[in-house]
Amino acid sequence: MQRRQLLLAGGALCALPGHALDFAPPRAPAAMRASVDRIIDIAVGIRPFRAQGPRIEAQRLHGRTVVHHYGHGGSGWSLSWGSAQRALALVQAGGAKPGERIAVIGCGAIGLTTARTAQQAGYRVRLYAKDRPPQVTSSAATGLWTPDSRIVTREHAGEAWSAGWEAMARASFKVHQSYLGLPSGPVEWHDGYLLADDFDTPLPSHAGEPDYPDLASRIADLRPRGVALAAGEHPFRTPQVRRFTQLVFNIPAYQRLLLDDFARDGGELVQRVFHRASDFAHLPERTVVNCSGDGARRLLADTTLTPVRGQTARLIPQPEVDYALIWRSHNLVVLPRRDGLLVAAMGGDDFGNDDPRPDRAQSEAAVQRLAGLF
Ligand SMILES: Cc1cc2nc3c(=O)[nH]c(=O)nc-3n(C[C@H](O)[C@H](O)[C@H](O)COP(=O)(O)OP(=O)(O)OC[C@H]3O[C@@H](n4cnc5c(N)ncnc54)[C@H](O)[C@@H]3O)c2cc1C
Repeated sequence: MQRRQLLLAGGALCALPGHALDFAPPRAPAAMRASVDRIIDIAVGIRPFRAQGPRIEAQRLHGRTVVHHYGHGGSGWSLSWGSAQRALALVQAGGAKPGERIAVIGCGAIGLTTARTAQQAGYRVRLYAKDRPPQVTSSAATGLWTPDSRIVTREHAGEAWSAGWEAMARASFKVHQSYLGLPSGPVEWHDGYLLADDFDTPLPSHAGEPDYPDLASRIADLRPRGVALAAGEHPFRTPQVRRFTQLVFNIPAYQRLLLDDFARDGGELVQRVFHRASDFAHLPERTVVNCSGDGARRLLADTTLTPVRGQTARLIPQPEVDYALIWRSHNLVVLPRRDGLLVAAMGGDDFGNDDPRPDRAQSEAAVQRLAGLF
């Protein structure tokens, strides 16, 4: 019999001819301890969705240059850095010079990354925000690399828009990679399993949601391809399973690091509520970057923003679980975050919903669906 070296590559056993037998069986993933009495927190956030895509544009308002920078839907963490670079270009085009102090409104993913990007370009920054982490929507996010999630409708995603999105996603991806390997683990790569009863069955669309374009194929080269697993190569009770490799944001650690870096570079954080755009006129800074997320709906009476409610629950951390799960047909995403097993599930009426109250029954049902897998 010809000898084979068996390599465990991407979860599939690959045989290379002419090499010594060197076989390591795949390690079974640790089971998730999914029970409702392990829920330690439930968080709700309101995704700031705009059919046209994020608003990144400058305006002269009440004697200030205001750079609007909001409306990142379900992609705020993922796109943050690339989007911040675009907002910074508008700050520079508006005449603000390095060394000058600018104002950034908002302390979510967009405000924090905008502030850091401006500091790195030599600006002094004062952040003004009604709330700071963990009271912001960004703190309720799942923490997946999803730059194409509820970011624009198909109707508005022409070639120019999509190319701009791609540039933003690639720029953002690059910066996220520079946060790998740090002790608090703000950014990590994890394997995950995509589960389905049948991958060929299209998913039902959610109530009231518009059509979204396929943008992911433009950046497919940014991560390894998924691998279909045969029965016996995974422990799940679902007919079809693919393994993928995915970028995960440990949101609390990421936020903490950004806040610490911001303060270390001389940034100031001021708690302040703005009731209308004319309030900007009272700021001492000549340039204001408005990163108020869903808050812009009221602040600017912006009717182009649609709130999209989302809820995540955390189970007691299980450091031995190092993989993600996406069970599409059961509307479930689970991430092995350092601050807990993060369980996200969509509700039936999220689109257009800005109800900030946690719905414990929704998270318990998601945890029970998860328990059925193990
Ligand atoms: C359940 C859920 C899961 C998600 N999962 C992911 C994911 O996996 N990956 C991903 O990339 N994205 C994800 N998102 C989307 C992401 O969280 C948002 O796109 C992002 O949080 C938007 O960030 P932001 O900074 O614009 O808004 P926010 O985080 O809402 O921050 C807004 C800031 O502005 C301040 N502000 C607002 N109005 C005023 C005012 N009038 N005066 C003063 N301050 C004001 C607020 O206090 C706050 O500091 C998810 C969202 C939800 C809800």
